[in-house]
Amino acid sequence: MSDHYIYADNAATTRVTEPVLEAMLPWLKEGYGNPSSIYSLGMQAAVAVDRARGQVAQALGANKNEIYFTSCGSEADNWAIKSTAARLAKKGKKHLITSAIEHHAVLHPMQSLEKQGFEVTYLPVDADGYVSAEDVRAAIRPDTALVSVMYANNEIGTVQPISEIGAICREKGVLFHTDAVQAVGHVPINVAEQNIDMLSLSGHKIHTPKGVGALYVRRGVQLPAFLEGGGQESGKRAGTENVPYIVGLGRAIELACADIPEKVRRVSALRDRLIEGVLGSIERCRLNGGRSPRLPGNANFSIVGVEGESLLLTLDMRGIAASSGSACTSGSLDPSHVLLAIGLPHEVAHGSLRLSLSEENTMEDVEYILRTLPEVVSYLRGMSPLWETIVREGKYLNLQSDPRR
Ligand code: PLP
Repeated sequence: MSDHYIYADNAATTRVTEPVLEAMLPWLKEGYGNPSSIYSLGMQAAVAVDRARGQVAQALGANKNEIYFTSCGSEADNWAIKSTAARLAKKGKKHLITSAIEHHAVLHPMQSLEKQGFEVTYLPVDADGYVSAEDVRAAIRPDTALVSVMYANNEIGTVQPISEIGAICREKGVLFHTDAVQAVGHVPINVAEQNIDMLSLSGHKIHTPKGVGALYVRRGVQLPAFLEGGGQESGKRAGTENVPYIVGLGRAIELACADIPEKVRRVSALRDRLIEGVLGSIERCRLNGGRSPRLPGNANFSIVGVEGESLLLTLDMRGIAASSGSACTSGSLDPSHVLLAIGLPHEVAHGSLRLSLSEENTMEDVEYILRTLPEVVSYLRGMSPLWETIVREGKYLNLQSDPRR
């Protein structure tokens, strides 16, 4: 085990920071009232939830009554998609548009709706991982109920043309949802200016504990309840509010959005050094996803001749927590749908590594990764028959521009 421990998997989840924990603690201890109760202990909790709702609204350029708290980003995605589809199907609108590179929290609800008779258009992305707004326009039909395109991709960090897509959807009178789980706190967002009708976010990507999220629903958009029961969240989402986590989310989003330009400047300098260093020191290696616009902390590489999983385990032994583009979480050996969508062959997609930095990382962390990663790669390649074949056959010499040969 190494003396270092460098956390470079902030797109998977983030550390709970002190100010967030401090904001939450009173609501885990003495402030345990139920926000629906009318005595003071309950009312104090209701006030805390209301304050957090204001903090989330402020961060998005929304109104307080347009924010609904959920248990996670996945719930917000499922709610926006399934409830909109159910409502508009009654008006004969059974067509949905999304992209090929969405998170499974969007793709799986879309696939279930297909089984129920909806038609889904999966927009392709270009080789850099961007959806074209004009493709969205061309895909819209009179029976289109919803367009759902993610704000930023969780694997390759590409930031989509959300304002353009929003303008097109508004012009065409089609509802627009965006999964902004990876974007909130990292890029400036204004739902009103960007014509976003619904937006999902998640707390644990911006330093709350896991298990809290929110859905923004523009006033005027009718979204049927997803969880029925008590009248919480204006009758739209039953369940006694998770007061401490909601308070944590309010504080976290306030902090995350306090000075986005400065954070972007600092984190993208780390990312750019990481990208240049990796590409400069490891042969037959490529950066996946376009350079700009890209999430400030995301660097995703394909390194041929190594298996993603072996890379992660060896990096872990050297004190680096990272993630692979391949679908190891689902126990499947299939490479990531995102990497296949940008045109990588299976062999290249398998050797993928996502390093996701946050404002908590330092240049020393990056330099340690840059010293360690090439050693780990050459150790693994040294044991790989696949690497031997790649070298003998002279394959992947221009992996960046031509990942197929
Ligand atoms: N959408 C995206 C783009 C994500 O990256 C994630 C989590 O990784 C989710 C949705 C799901 O969020 P949660 O873990 O809060 O359910």
